[in-house]
Amino acid sequence: MTPTATPKRIAVIPGDGIGKEVIPEAVKVVQAAVAHAGTKLEITNLDWGADRFLRDGTTLPADAPEMFRRDFDAILLGAMGDPRVPSNQHAADILLGLRFKLDLYVNVRPCVLLDPRLTPLRDRTERDINFVVFRENTEGSYVGMGGIFKKGTPDEIALQEDVNTYKGVERILRYAFEYARSNKLTKLCMSDKSNALAFGHDLWQRLFKKMRTEYPEIQSSHQFIDNLLMQIIRDPSQFQVIVTCNMFGDIASDVGAQIAGGLGLAPSGNIHPGQVSMFEPVHGSAPTIAGKNEANPMGSALTGAMMLDYLGLPDAAKRIEAAVRSALKEGKTTPDLGGSLSTRECGDWLANFLAK
Ligand code: ATP
Repeated sequence: MTPTATPKRIAVIPGDGIGKEVIPEAVKVVQAAVAHAGTKLEITNLDWGADRFLRDGTTLPADAPEMFRRDFDAILLGAMGDPRVPSNQHAADILLGLRFKLDLYVNVRPCVLLDPRLTPLRDRTERDINFVVFRENTEGSYVGMGGIFKKGTPDEIALQEDVNTYKGVERILRYAFEYARSNKLTKLCMSDKSNALAFGHDLWQRLFKKMRTEYPEIQSSHQFIDNLLMQIIRDPSQFQVIVTCNMFGDIASDVGAQIAGGLGLAPSGNIHPGQVSMFEPVHGSAPTIAGKNEANPMGSALTGAMMLDYLGLPDAAKRIEAAVRSALKEGKTTPDLGGSLSTRECGDWLANFLAK
């Protein structure tokens, strides 16, 4: 392994709930993996989340995007959400704020079965469940455009706009096609609801049809989102790369996470290629199990692996994945996967495995 001289600068935001328990474990695991590669990580902890918001009203400081671009290579985030903040204002400001303000337009969610015992689907093995969902991350229905008129009356009107731009759709499609090409994957499926959303998703259709001609070696197909979700359950082996809009990607990747072992195992990345990007487990703050030292840290550890891969340390990333596979095989897991380890014990097991 070639030692890398320049340290990687990582901002760590554990956030709320189980984020505060699983992220320290992920940091431990990531440190153990890079120590082996001779690379240093410079970790800076940021205490943004519900506690800080309730103390002094801080959500996302105005200079945060500039600070991240200037001072950091990546952000590792836990989860945002706390029952004490019913408006969820801090979560929206921090999470959506970072995605939008850093223009992290690619949301990557791999759905990879690491152990056949973990899928609820019958007779499926690792070979059948191995695909990645690319979700457009800066547009669609999640931009917060709209309004409410005559709120609380029987005449109430609630409007929620769905924003699709040429630039936004083209760049996520391009990213997915290029990913397939550079990883020698031959199957790409674009999903939309253009039969009902006749304007926004017509744009997806037109750009997809144009772009697929540039990638003749890739078998590109199209499925409406309702059919896609059925097909993922019926026969997940037909998928390698899925690309879709913000809301449908949110939903499809949760379905994918379930058939690959559940939320406790699922990693994700929010990426702007070549720029500071943010990595977070798919799960949220899970208030029902927070503070009990029983949350599964593997999703965060795999998120750390994805971050290292993005930072140009693919060997360290692969070693983390191998450690998680071994832990699963040996039953060294938290209760959600049938084991008896605590969050900390599971993190220790992975870190010790990597230190060997
Ligand atoms: P939020 O509002 O922040 O999204 P949530 O509880 O609505 O939180 P998730 O955090 O995604 O949603 O979790 C849903 C449920 O899945 C949890 O209540 C918990 O039972 C389970 N879960 C999620 N993540 C984990 C994990 N890392 N380990 C074990 N169980 C988990």
